[in-house]
Amino acid sequence: MNNRIAAVAGYLVLYVILDWISYIHPVLPVAITPWNPPPGLSLVFLLRYGTRYWPALFLAALLAEILVRGIPAPLPWLAASSLALAGCYAGLAALLGTRIGARFDKLSDLTRFLALILPGTLVAALAYVAIFTFAGLVPQHEFFPNLLRFWVGDAIGVMVVTPLLLVHGAENPALWRSLRPQPEMLAQAAAVLAALWLIFGVEYSDEFKFFYLLFLPLIWIAMRHGIRGATIAILGIQLGLIVALEWSGQRSAAVVEFQLLMAALTVTGLFLGMAVTSRRALEEQLRNRQSELNQALRMAAAGEMTSALAHELNQPLSAISSYLRACQLMLELPEEQHPLLAETMDKVVAEAARAGQVVHRLRDFYRSGELRLERLAMEPLLQGGMEPLNKRADREGIALSLKVAPHLPEVLADRMQIETVLHNLVSNAIDACGASRRGEIHVGAVAEGGAVRVCVSDNGAGIAPEIAAHLFKPFATSKPQGMGLGLAITRSLIEAHGGKLWAEAGEGGGARFCFTLPAEFPTIIAHGR
Ligand code: ADP
Repeated sequence: MNNRIAAVAGYLVLYVILDWISYIHPVLPVAITPWNPPPGLSLVFLLRYGTRYWPALFLAALLAEILVRGIPAPLPWLAASSLALAGCYAGLAALLGTRIGARFDKLSDLTRFLALILPGTLVAALAYVAIFTFAGLVPQHEFFPNLLRFWVGDAIGVMVVTPLLLVHGAENPALWRSLRPQPEMLAQAAAVLAALWLIFGVEYSDEFKFFYLLFLPLIWIAMRHGIRGATIAILGIQLGLIVALEWSGQRSAAVVEFQLLMAALTVTGLFLGMAVTSRRALEEQLRNRQSELNQALRMAAAGEMTSALAHELNQPLSAISSYLRACQLMLELPEEQHPLLAETMDKVVAEAARAGQVVHRLRDFYRSGELRLERLAMEPLLQGGMEPLNKRADREGIALSLKVAPHLPEVLADRMQIETVLHNLVSNAIDACGASRRGEIHVGAVAEGGAVRVCVSDNGAGIAPEIAAHLFKPFATSKPQGMGLGLAITRSLIEAHGGKLWAEAGEGGGARFCFTLPAEFPTIIAHGR
């Protein structure tokens, strides 16, 4: 409550001081000045504390009329004019409160602000001048010149003061950042002073001719510092203009004309400043979105890599656990069976090493797509990939065969990755065959153009129609325990080698998965010998 009383008292004092400072070139007897900033303060006060504080406006206007302006009219007329002003500005504040944002940082805020204050101040001017015309203080033929004078004075007072206070009072860090003190600001202030000096200081016949010079520093400031800089520059220019007008002893009519030019300058500066500020805010928003997007993409990639690793590790780990179970059984057998135990333990070690290699290679692959290429003969390469699955195929009664065409060229490939590819394709084929009937899986390699084509065919259930369209997409699976990553990884590994992977229907209802690898022709052929 005390805060509110202090705010009202502060407002009253500030209003009267502001009215006193701006009390220049009054047209007597009703003391209309060509620059009237107090209504700008009143609007901000009502926007901040609410329109129910309108009686403070009435009091402030009355005090100013009595203390500063000394209008020679009976108190009821002064009260009537103050009441009219308070009513008009309270109405204007109510409209502004619902139409503009509290941060006052958008072009639409500024457009609505100007669209409301121009007619709003005209209504106030009409009410004020009409009351004193009725009172007989303003002669009827002076009605329109006084109306124009009052309107211009109030409109420009509001245009200069209200945006300044709204923008600088708002808790908007983006706006603050646009106005860090810089040496450039001294140069900008100097440019404003230089323009004022050129307009008023140098002896020309016509001061109006050079008014446009003031646009240059204002444009510079608005472009660099947005709406914050523009509002400060506009206040500076307005004060400089008033001082210069006083100092050069201009006629009152000329002062009004200068104020009209000032209104044009103010509107330009405000729009330019606001355009720069809102553009910067948009750019910042865009940058934030971009970094959020990058973060999301990184998270997705990390998630995919984790799933891929889990999938790839699952196979050696399940092999290790079956071998170890076999070892436990063997330990119960007589000692002469133990060489078999040693052999099985070797397989455990080999599978563990394979798991380690998978981790390393996949990490390398995701980090940089790095391949450890070497020249490899097809037959041992394919055997190496199928080897870990021979046992499982046997156990499930599946015949696993390999046929490599004679004189196949070598390929330039990463052994570990091609073994992983083959492992994935053959274990999918085993899954497809199932244990129930006599399954057959055939791996064949032939030369084809400048490449080697490898196909893994099975006589299993065939590709389920609901999965066929997105077979190679991550997480597409028809298996209850499946992760749907094997084929996606397999395809990316083959494509990294410059090859292709595809699926086709196999003979006898099964499936066939084929991939190509670019052939590495022997140097003899490459040199044409
Ligand atoms: P997962 O094996 O974890 O399901 P994959 O990406 O390796 O993931 O396979 C995706 C799907 O493709 C499998 O769930 C299966 O439906 C289908 N698929 C893969 N290979 C074969 C095949 N040889 N025969 C029939 N369907 C297959």
